[in-house]
This record gives sequence, structure tokens and C-alpha cells, in this order.
Amino acid sequence: MSEIQADLVVRNGFVITMNDARECLERGAVAILGNKIVAVGTDRDIAGTVKAKRAIDAQGGVIHPGFVDTHVHFMNTVRGAVPDSADTSIMMNTFRRWWDSVEEEDERAATLLNCIEMLSNGTTCFLEAGTLQFPDLAAEAAAETGIRGLIGDPFLWDVPTPAGTHAMTRAPRDRNRSLKLLGGQLKRNKGEPLIRGCVVLFGLGSASDELMQAAKELSDSHQVIFSQHQSFDTHDGSADEHRLGKRAMCHYADHDLVGENCTFSHMNDLTADEAEIVRQAGMSVVWCPVTSMNLGAGAAKHARHLEMLRAGVNVSLASDGAVSGCRYDIGLQGLVGLLSSRAKSENKLAFSAEDVLELATRGGAQAVGMLDQIGSIEPGKYADLVIRTTDLPEAQPITDPIQALVYSCGSKSIATVIVNGEIAWSGGQPARVEAAMIYDLARSSRRRMWAKLSLAPEGKWPLLV
Ligand SMILES: [Zn+2]
Repeated sequence: MSEIQADLVVRNGFVITMNDARECLERGAVAILGNKIVAVGTDRDIAGTVKAKRAIDAQGGVIHPGFVDTHVHFMNTVRGAVPDSADTSIMMNTFRRWWDSVEEEDERAATLLNCIEMLSNGTTCFLEAGTLQFPDLAAEAAAETGIRGLIGDPFLWDVPTPAGTHAMTRAPRDRNRSLKLLGGQLKRNKGEPLIRGCVVLFGLGSASDELMQAAKELSDSHQVIFSQHQSFDTHDGSADEHRLGKRAMCHYADHDLVGENCTFSHMNDLTADEAEIVRQAGMSVVWCPVTSMNLGAGAAKHARHLEMLRAGVNVSLASDGAVSGCRYDIGLQGLVGLLSSRAKSENKLAFSAEDVLELATRGGAQAVGMLDQIGSIEPGKYADLVIRTTDLPEAQPITDPIQALVYSCGSKSIATVIVNGEIAWSGGQPARVEAAMIYDLARSSRRRMWAKLSLAPEGKWPLLV
């Protein structure tokens, strides 16, 4: 066999390839040239066939494809701004005021902080949820950290805000404004950019058929995904039904507004008929188990993610926002999804550790329209992978590496994260940006935003200073 040239070989690891056969290599290696994987095999085979400029010894730790977080809001600087005792309406009103007030430096701080938090948790690709005020600036900041991602245009909506809630002054619900901005981020999709554009509406009943149709057509013609929030709780389901005269997914199917390139987030409140429409459309469902449980959306009891998954629907995992989803940590989302599925079905066999990896890697890759490029460790795909350590109490003794990863280690075992062939996280630090500088920016932004919005800590217990 002729010699394969590589820039980097990651060797001596338990490789979970997530290829079509879901092969694992007990003592395997991955060779990388430029931004792509060029060879995967046993350590011995790769040593005999690959000539690499440098090597990383995984020391027996797990090597797996990077996680894909398919619904994130870049606003982790908002942590603490919403009292834990506040209900969801107060939370949403704080977000509205936050989104109406952030300036470029705030969004840069939040994006940098978000991206390094995701990298630290093994996420190598994200899908932003359409709530950036300065998407160009955010795309630049995200790329600085070395993460891969997709972003859309901000706050596209045109159905008037229901009485009793507040409109965002910066982004009025206006069809002309939304149609003008729609597709603006698709300009990124030339060559092989780390940050790509896709079509994103805010959703949750805030788009007319006309706006949804424009979004769907644009995503079809540009071969990108169309994403939006959908059916978070029973209130959304009934509001859509009242407005449309029938359940939302039934209405969308009637009007050709759903298809394989549609990736809708939450989808907690669906009828059996709607779940069947989702299956028939071949679309992706983004599951945010921590958000739905944390906000008391009743999803753990009523949602059909498990049923849709078993019916063949592509399901992915997402962290959503800092207040609702707690952490930008797909491993946590997967474990909570597993636990809630078992609790709901009263069946331990309902959801497995392998399912968590499926949703976090291939499921996410398909949901962002990139399964042919990411989501598994195979030659020809982008070199987006996570290397884990075994030097951890939770990782010992090594028996089943997949169970150890999902149940006991979580993000603690993440040692190195490679995106696009480059190390983006290593030894507890981001590799391409300085964490201390980002923390400074985040603290400054927090001070500015709290002063601007007259926020104060809740302080349930006496604080001695
Ligand atoms: Zn969201």
C-alpha cells in the first residue's frame, strides 16, 4: 500500500467512528491532512501506512466525532439576570429587553464565551437560533475560537405580538423588514468557511405563511436548512391552532412548508398526527430536554421525541439558552434525554448510551444539513473530533468506554477538541483565543448590561460583604 501523508495522527485511542456500521476500534488511530480525515484504522495499520508530521497519543482514551449543538442562543452573559424564582414570561421579557439593548461589544463577548463553552464540552459545530443582533460580527468572533457553525438572520417574524406581551423595538414584526433580511447570511457559503449561513426564522407562531414560504423556497434553492422554534409548550400549540384553524404541523404540510431540509426546535407539543407528518416530511427535530424540563413545559411527560426517534425521525440535541438549558453541554442534554425517556416510558431499555451518541453526532450533523461532511470519523469528512482522557476516577476501570463517556465522565474527560483539523481546545483551555481575555470582556458586558437594564441579583439568602 502506498504511503499516506498526514499533518497529524491521533493514535492509541478507542475510536468510536459512528460510520454506517458504527464500527469502533479498540486501539485505533485517525490521520488528518489539512482540514480532512484521510485515514482511520487500527493503530498498527495506521503506523504502517501513514507518514504524519506530528502525533497525539490518546493514551487509550476515547476518540469520537465532535458533538453538534443544533439550537443555541449566544447569550450566556445573561446568566444570573433572570431570577430563579421568575416565571417564563418574566424570563422572556428580560430577554426582550436584553436583545433590545445589546451592543456590538456585548454580542462579541457573549459569542466568544459561548463558543469556548461549547468547545469545552466537545461541541464542534453549532446552529444559532436566529437571535443575534450583529450576525456578521458574531460570525467573525465564533470563527476566531475555531468552532464550526451555522447562523441565520436576526429576529425574522411578521405576525403581530399577542396582546399583553411586549414587542422588540429593534426588530419589529414586519414582513418587509424580514423578507429584506432573509437569506442575508447565505453570502458566507462560498468555499469552505467555518461559519456558514442558513435560513432561520424565529418561529413559535411569529411567521405568516408568506414568510414561511419565502424561507422554505430560499432554503430549497440554496440547499441549506430552514430552522425555527416550534411548539414549545401547550400554549404555542393552541395559539397556532387558533390562528391557523388546525394544528400547526398539519397546516404546514397542507401548504408545502415542511421537507427534509427543515429543522424545527423543541417540538414538545405535537399530536400523533403531527408527529406522523414530521416523519413523512423527513425533517429533523431538535430536542432540548433540559430547557423543556427546566421551564416546566411538560415535555418530559407529553413530548414525543422518543416515539418520533423510534419511528425513524432524525432527532438531534441542543442546549438552547444559558438560562433555560443551564449549560451548553450536549453530553448533559443527552443524559437528561436518556433519563427522561426512561422515566416517561417506565422502561430502562427505552433509550441507550449509544442513542445519546447517535443524536449528538450523526443526528446533529443531519439536522444542520452536513451529514456528508461531519458527524462521523471517516476519510473525506472534516476532522472534527474529541479526544478524552482515562486519567479520571470516573473513567476507571475501563470497561465500556461508551457507557463511561455518557454516564460517568460527561465533559470532565474531554482533553482535546479538534475542529477542521486544528486543535481548538486542549488542557482545559481554548487553543486559539485567550480565555482570560474573554472572561474580562464577559464581565465588562455584564456590568454594562445590568446597569442599562437596572438588574439586581435576587439574593434569597443574606449576603455578607
Ligand atoms: Zn431557542
